[in-house]
Amino acid sequence: MGAGYIGRFAPSPTGPLHAGSLVAALASWLDARAHGGRWLVRIEDVDTPRCVPGADRLILDQLAACGLQPDEPPIWQSARGEAYELALDRLVASGWAYPCACTRSDIERALASQGRTKPRGGELVYPGTCRRGLDGRAARAMRMRTSFGDCATEPEITRRDRRLGTQRQHLCEAVGDFVLKRADGLWAYQIAVVVDDAAQGITDVVRGEDLADNTPRQILLQRALGLPTPRYLHTPLVLGANGEKLSKQNGAAALDLSDPLAALRKAGAVLGVHADAPDRDTWLRRATEAWRRLLA
Ligand code: GLU
Repeated sequence: MGAGYIGRFAPSPTGPLHAGSLVAALASWLDARAHGGRWLVRIEDVDTPRCVPGADRLILDQLAACGLQPDEPPIWQSARGEAYELALDRLVASGWAYPCACTRSDIERALASQGRTKPRGGELVYPGTCRRGLDGRAARAMRMRTSFGDCATEPEITRRDRRLGTQRQHLCEAVGDFVLKRADGLWAYQIAVVVDDAAQGITDVVRGEDLADNTPRQILLQRALGLPTPRYLHTPLVLGANGEKLSKQNGAAALDLSDPLAALRKAGAVLGVHADAPDRDTWLRRATEAWRRLLA
């Protein structure tokens, strides 16, 4: 890896950082520093209805208070629409992406008529209705194909995760043709993250394990667009009292920055990094050495 390493932290500004998101931020920072690489921050504000005004600045201030300074000015996905449009155009031209006119109830009806019910997690696997054309209906969203022929014969996407080991997903059965551009005109996370990871030259994605399931979709997009696949490391999650992943949605408290060293220590412990230090910057240095030892 060495000098070619470029990592990133890519928070969605839906609220301030909490104990769980600091773990992802710290892990990506430590990994970049331990490899002598660069560390970037990207504000993923494409899902505008979920974004909270001012949360982006707050997150950047929280990172700074923890001594996690990006090596370049952050970028905002809300300013990157043109790049996503170009990628979508290429996917349409090569037959990977297609317009979809279905509403949620159209999809539910089509699935029911095929005797299929909602899979675990409640996410609908798109039955592929609009692959054959829109039949005069108006396009609502744009979707990515997960197979060209019979879904059952489509190979799985296999990948190696630096922490989780070999992972497999049969995309077209488990996920189905997924949305790239939503009916409300907003860009989906999958296309934005793939275009930006490539544009920023990201070699290593280090992020929370809750996102691991998205990786095969991102790998498919990288392949379809002729982009390199970075290495992936998915970090352990911080669980709340109810045993669920700590998240802004289940009311995780904003990081208490009256004592950044204590916050860093706690986040480090989740990652198996234990460093003793009198102050923040010494802790970060020692934690980087500890991370390097974990990699060895
Ligand atoms: N923006 C995503 C989130 O905050 C993370 C995306 C990523 O790291 O790939 O959950």
